[in-house]
Amino acid sequence: MNVLVINCGSSSLKYQLINADSEEVLAKGLCERIGIDGGMHTYQGGGEKTKTEVDMPNHTKAVQLVLDALTDPKAGVIGSLSEIDAVGHRIVHGGERFSDSVLIDDEVISAIEECNDLAPLHNPANLIGVRSCRDLMPDVPMVAVFDTAFHQTMPPKAYLYGIPYEYYRKYKVRRYGFHGTSHEYVSARTAQFLGKDIKDMKIIVCHLGNGASISAVKYGKCVDTSMGMTPLEGLIMGTRSGDLDPAILEFISRKEDLTIAQMLGILNKKSGVLGLSDGVSSDFRDLAQAAQDGNAQASTALETYAYRVAKYIGAYVAAMDGVDAITFTAGVGENNISARAEICSYLTYLGTKIDDEKNNIRGEERVISSDGSKVTLLVIPTDEEMSIARQTVEKVSGR
Ligand code: ADP
Repeated sequence: MNVLVINCGSSSLKYQLINADSEEVLAKGLCERIGIDGGMHTYQGGGEKTKTEVDMPNHTKAVQLVLDALTDPKAGVIGSLSEIDAVGHRIVHGGERFSDSVLIDDEVISAIEECNDLAPLHNPANLIGVRSCRDLMPDVPMVAVFDTAFHQTMPPKAYLYGIPYEYYRKYKVRRYGFHGTSHEYVSARTAQFLGKDIKDMKIIVCHLGNGASISAVKYGKCVDTSMGMTPLEGLIMGTRSGDLDPAILEFISRKEDLTIAQMLGILNKKSGVLGLSDGVSSDFRDLAQAAQDGNAQASTALETYAYRVAKYIGAYVAAMDGVDAITFTAGVGENNISARAEICSYLTYLGTKIDDEKNNIRGEERVISSDGSKVTLLVIPTDEEMSIARQTVEKVSGR
């Protein structure tokens, strides 16, 4: 079964065509600057990567380009559209309604629309992708896979904020958590890789990318996660602040004469390690280089980042009353050897021992703790697209 995985943003569309039986990625690509001048389509189908400048006035045009590229007699990977058996859509927010992926119909589309308020930048864009695919492939089954779904097993004590309950009752203000597809995939793979049953394990997954979140997965179910009602809460990220005293918003906005929207722009786009390093970079490779070259602020940013991750790990050990495995994933988690070493340096109280030699890897599945470590430390590369493809097959075939 071939599954087209679509991740549709407000002005971009990422996609992969996956043979779900062999789990081979047949083709992948990216449409950028949809609805803006200077559109660009990057495509790779077996051979060389190609970049084509092409204007895409709307998402339907972008999806049409993708389908044309996939069926192109030269660079395409399928003979006709009938070889696309299903489409899996990444949807950011499923609110409390969706605790699992779901086959898309009119009723599901309306229910996703009802969650737009909770993710105004993402959900409407995701839905445009759904509608465009429907227009062009009306008979192909489609599945919605939610970033929030895996975290719906959190108990109220983990998802409620300490504010008047009426805001939860009226507006569903609560923790939802994100990167759920990754946390689900990586926790399942951690157990599988160790040859254990996930139902017997307490796992902490550290998804450390540009956006970053941690989750506590107890016996296969998420019991807590660091992102909140929006992806702004929790860890210090590339450009997002993570946790902070909410009174800071009012204080800075008064001092600098900024609106709430401007303040949120700063917390989302100008904070994190970018802000902490005084503007050096949001990219951890640049920061490591700058720190090595003697930039003290870059070193402080990296230290602050690792310290926050370690504190969350401690919190989740408490949440689960123990931990069997701590897994690192995503750009920084998979590739940043020194960040992993620094985070683990806070965990010796757990009887955790990182093996520097085993830790000296990038982007491959491996145990990085030494044999005597009481907690197993691992690197497991995440694969959100493959996870979406698998979940799509499950729902389409009614499993
Ligand atoms: P996104 O949230 O955008 O998907 P990624 O998971 O791709 O983010 O992670 C991006 C981050 O991963 C960047 O900060 C980058 O510096 C970091 N990263 C990627 N490769 C390496 C590497 N080889 N060494 C250190 N950091 C890396």
